[in-house]
Amino acid sequence: MPGTKMPPPWRIKMVEPIKMIPREERERLLEEAGYNLFALPSEAVYIDLLTDSGTSAMSDAQWGGLMQGDEAYAGSRNFYHLQSTVEDIMGFKYVIPTHQGRGAENILFQHLIRPGQYVLGNMHFDTTKAHIEWRQGRAVDLAAEIAHDTQAYHPFKGNIDLEALEEFIQQKGPDQIAFILVTVTCNSGGGQPVSMANMRGVRAIADRYGLKVFMDAARFAENAWFIRQREEGYRDKTIKEIVREMFSYADGCTMSAKKDALVNIGGFVGLRDEELYKEVSRLGVVFEGFPTYGGLAGRDMEAMALGLKEVIQPEYLAYRIGQVEYLGQRLREAGIPIVEPVGGHAVFVDARKFLPHIEKEKFPAQALCIELYREAGIRSVEVGGVLAGRDPETGENLYPKLDLLRLTIPRRVYTNEHMDVIADAFIAIKKRRDSIRGVAFVEEPPILRHFTARFKLV
Ligand SMILES: *Cc1c(COP(=O)(O)O)cnc(C)c1O
Repeated sequence: MPGTKMPPPWRIKMVEPIKMIPREERERLLEEAGYNLFALPSEAVYIDLLTDSGTSAMSDAQWGGLMQGDEAYAGSRNFYHLQSTVEDIMGFKYVIPTHQGRGAENILFQHLIRPGQYVLGNMHFDTTKAHIEWRQGRAVDLAAEIAHDTQAYHPFKGNIDLEALEEFIQQKGPDQIAFILVTVTCNSGGGQPVSMANMRGVRAIADRYGLKVFMDAARFAENAWFIRQREEGYRDKTIKEIVREMFSYADGCTMSAKKDALVNIGGFVGLRDEELYKEVSRLGVVFEGFPTYGGLAGRDMEAMALGLKEVIQPEYLAYRIGQVEYLGQRLREAGIPIVEPVGGHAVFVDARKFLPHIEKEKFPAQALCIELYREAGIRSVEVGGVLAGRDPETGENLYPKLDLLRLTIPRRVYTNEHMDVIADAFIAIKKRRDSIRGVAFVEEPPILRHFTARFKLV
């Protein structure tokens, strides 16, 4: 049940010690890091919420699988296990393993995008957009308008605006469209789900214009869980049935296994069509590896196959999504402004609302990330003005509409007691929030500045 404190559907067999270092040391490390949390050693972090990517805890079965790697160059049995698992769960007969999600994007997009063509989606993830642009394609986001309203409730805020999609295709002509890419859940929109009806609608439009549909499937199981909870007619279906139906509307997928395959590294392309598979797997050989290993060890493929089976278990998903909602609920109750509704993998705090005295020019979300580490050794990530960077032409700062702090929850790693530590830290910060200062750049790299910039408090 969302929002309630439920016990985890696993017990702990191995532990990794973490500790909260003393406040004075956190203060010193912050200064040394130039107030950039990317520059902190992970050992200085008590609860690490930088990302849910590659940070999952594997099960005993997955660790056992690592001992059963068949490291043959060609035809590894772990590849066949992965292939049959993807076929069983997603319905894609052809599977090309890759080192991670962007490897899958690279080889699929190289084959499918001609220079100048558009790729239409709800909201493209940043590496996805980068790979589209690398092929001189143009990534177009057509998420429904409500996705941009952070307070309005909608059960499926990841939906594509179907009218806008069809209009775009008609205006540019279908031959100008490389394909449609639906991201489930919509990561850039805060982990918001896409409804089955919307996917069905996308397929119908694609069929009318002879276009292909792919899914960016990184969080496919979390999306299926939301469909079961929120969409009419799916309550009595199994997650597996829902997943099968979701992918039945697609010609294939790219997958970052670092998310919903519960492994620390890996990815794949899944495809239905043999001809397409032949073309893409040729590129796979050049950029990733022979098609039965794709840049991974046999043992990695084994862990991935097992993770895919575990991630669709309803008990797993109930706790996973319930934990993220639990954190959201605690923050909501404490009057901390968060983006609504809470998505599948993260809670976003609206830093401009929380720290109204810090102007956007002083990066309130960065200031709040610093304060959260100072308070309780928690590492979060800024999704706001620092990340947005500057306009390449004018050199002006691109201030986005929102300055958010993202609390991304790793899978099966922390308990709800850790969620309480996070909520209590915000409650403590709230009491002294008027004294929190904004930041200014001391060093500002020209590209991807958020990773390596240094700041000072102002
Ligand atoms: C993480 C992610 C990717 C890229 O995958 P990597 O494994 O990080 O290369 C692509 N799309 C979405 C939606 C993602 O979340």
